[in-house]
Amino acid sequence: MKIKDVACYLLDAPLERPFAYSQAWFERRTALLVEITADDGTSGWGECFGPMTKAMAGAVDFLKTSLIGQDPFAIEAHWEAMYNRTRDHGQKGIAIEAISGLDIALWDLKGKALNLPVHRLMGGPMRTRLQAYATGFYRTRDPDQLSMLVAEAERHVADGFGAFKLKLGFGLKSDIELCETVRRKVGDRVAIMIDANHAYDAANAGKLARAIEPLDIGWFEEPCVPEDIEGYKQLKSQTTIPMAGGEAEFTRWGFRRLLAERVVDVAQPDTCAVGGISECKKIADMATAYGVRCIPHCWGTGIAVATALQVLAVMPRTPPGLHPIEPLLEFDRSEHPYRMAILKTPIVPENGWVDVPTGPGLGIEIDRKTVEKYRVG
Ligand code: CA
Repeated sequence: MKIKDVACYLLDAPLERPFAYSQAWFERRTALLVEITADDGTSGWGECFGPMTKAMAGAVDFLKTSLIGQDPFAIEAHWEAMYNRTRDHGQKGIAIEAISGLDIALWDLKGKALNLPVHRLMGGPMRTRLQAYATGFYRTRDPDQLSMLVAEAERHVADGFGAFKLKLGFGLKSDIELCETVRRKVGDRVAIMIDANHAYDAANAGKLARAIEPLDIGWFEEPCVPEDIEGYKQLKSQTTIPMAGGEAEFTRWGFRRLLAERVVDVAQPDTCAVGGISECKKIADMATAYGVRCIPHCWGTGIAVATALQVLAVMPRTPPGLHPIEPLLEFDRSEHPYRMAILKTPIVPENGWVDVPTGPGLGIEIDRKTVEKYRVG
């Protein structure tokens, strides 16, 4: 079997209700999907995480000459070849996001060809289902934001989610009020995590952490900019809330310092950005060696969700035991016109839990008609 073709699919759709996180407004949802086809017609799909979809497609186009005509099963060899080709000008960002989509597509293709799910090729399953946590709580142009967010919390609880993550970074007063109000509304039935998307410096993030510490917060994600390693360390000395981060970091080399210096308590590599399934597993194993929990970041289409599930199915327990703290699946609940529509069978949480897909490859089948409907390049 040889790799015959690598294709990019750039998807785009406007949102009915634009929403914001602490850094920007979203008016549209874009995605870059990658398909690798072998000479016998078998194909595998991947996804690249990042807003610069055209630039990522350009990087995929550059890298595909490393793959055409090659053995699709030699994923480790291809990863090293692709990384080495971009190393001097890449290491982080677009080049690694492109490698991620290609690596995921290769794993899907291998699984499809061998009729085995990726997690079985990787030695799993360690677990067959994952508890999902709801990501949402974005801001809109609705005048009463607090009521809207509280209603959203109640909706997630009604839908069966036992955990959700509040988007913060909109000012200390407003953030504290939201955390207190939501905790009061949902009581202790639900685990609450928070994510500031690096809207604060360490001093203000520390103030926020101390104010909400009695509310039992599962983790504080991206309190400060990812470059501010010392800021994370300062925060860890000031609060018992675990620190989480890593969605803006790349590869085992990028995560080395986060883990070795225990900058985060929860490492959050995004499989579609960090270097794909191969690299995410290496980071997860390295995290175990350093005693750090690993819970992948996930924000994309159903391909990204299926990819995260395959990796989560082989995630080591840190630490193992009779009652280990199991990893969670990040499940984005914000508006996305084609997130699950591009799958023939959507991935749907049931009572807040999601089964690991057991079909070949990523365990999903792509609905090509829907992909074409949203395709812009
Ligand atoms: Ca985040």
